Amino acid sequence: MDFELSPKARDHLANLQEFMDSHVYPAEKTYHEWRSVNDPHKLPPVVEELKVEARKRGLWNLFLPDLGGLSNVEYATLAELTGRSPDIAPEALNCQAPDTGNMEVLHMFGTEEQKRTWLQPLLDGEIRSAFAMTEPDVASSDATNITTSIVREGDEYVINGRKWWITGAADERCKIFIVMGKTDPDAPKHRQQSQILVPRDTPGFTVVRDLPVFGRHDQHGHCELRFEDVRVPVGNLIAEEGDGFAISQARLGPGRIHHAMRAIGMAERALELMCRRAAERVAFGRPLASQGVVQQQIAESRMAIEQARLLTLKTAWLIDRHGAKGARTEIAAIKVIAPRVAFEVLDRAIQVHGGAGVSDDTPLAAMYTWARAMRIFDGPDEVHVRTVARQELRPYLS
Ligand SMILES: Cc1cc2nc3c(=O)[nH]c(=O)nc-3n(C[C@H](O)[C@H](O)[C@H](O)COP(=O)(O)OP(=O)(O)OC[C@H]3O[C@@H](n4cnc5c(N)ncnc54)[C@H](O)[C@@H]3O)c2cc1C
Repeated sequence: MDFELSPKARDHLANLQEFMDSHVYPAEKTYHEWRSVNDPHKLPPVVEELKVEARKRGLWNLFLPDLGGLSNVEYATLAELTGRSPDIAPEALNCQAPDTGNMEVLHMFGTEEQKRTWLQPLLDGEIRSAFAMTEPDVASSDATNITTSIVREGDEYVINGRKWWITGAADERCKIFIVMGKTDPDAPKHRQQSQILVPRDTPGFTVVRDLPVFGRHDQHGHCELRFEDVRVPVGNLIAEEGDGFAISQARLGPGRIHHAMRAIGMAERALELMCRRAAERVAFGRPLASQGVVQQQIAESRMAIEQARLLTLKTAWLIDRHGAKGARTEIAAIKVIAPRVAFEVLDRAIQVHGGAGVSDDTPLAAMYTWARAMRIFDGPDEVHVRTVARQELRPYLS
């Protein structure tokens, strides 16, 4: 295994590092202040300014290998850096979830018409998108449970159902929803589902409410949606009826690398803040950094971050060589490990900061809640642990 970056990836990394220092970190205060006195679901203008600057610097759409020309290992290092400022940096580079996954799906499975209408404006950062699978009425960690119906009537599909926790939906710029539902409840278990494009302004589609994450409302939101006799042309179906599950699987591999590396970026920022605070803050006559117990927290954090990063890079390396199928167990493992490590490091960093740690004077509290949520979205820990266990047990059970 060789994680040495190519000259091109090294250039992007240096470019991004400079962009983070000169533009992104300084914009964080502006971003939060703007949101505190404006509609919290509108995009603070500073992000549009950052998008223009990032694009000018060639830091745009790098997540998509066919466009950015980067392997998963190469892009992973960039994703880590953007994770240090998770509210702003990924979007500045047009590399934010769930748009990245949606763009991948349209790139891989979209018709020419779908690409022209939806993929191009997404690639240009003009609109945003959402992926709607989870439902309030069924345990959605088992995606075969979903009940939203997609029924063909002549040249249209009619959609009925409820969704919730749909990231991105509170932002008016979110113009297109990829909706997962059932086209044939009698088909084999993994062929019942399809994915279909629903434009935001379609009659019968309603954004019911935005759900806070531990009391915080994100700019783009996580919403409950209602679909009541929503009609779209048959041309809005992605791939074929029954392909919904396979499409979901196809989008998962690289997306998990992005999430894991951003979590590691959050952990790195937390560790940096922890060390700065420990070096500056004096308690009982000496800096916190001289207390063995604080040193232990710092060392544990460093060791855990290194382990998580190595496993994630190994996973990216496997995907580059063998595709997502060849890295199934590792993809499941990093989905558990990276958020767990980020959560633990953030917890320690908060502790070392004392009261300041739970305030909003540092990014720690917001990151902490996000790291906690990461252990649930894209499938809860238990589901991924089950995948790892099944693989491990395979030789022993026949
Ligand atoms: C911030 C946030 C953003 C999200 N964004 C999106 C989005 O954009 N689009 C979307 O479709 N969804 C999204 N989700 C939803 C998310 O993917 C689901 O919440 C998740 O998959 C779990 O489904 P559920 O909530 O129905 O939990 P359930 O399926 O009801 O599971 C509840 C709990 O049961 C346990 N459990 C489940 N299965 C097993 C098992 N096999 N073994 C042991 N224990 C188990 C786990 O502890 C799990 O947390 C988001 C969620 C959050 C919190």
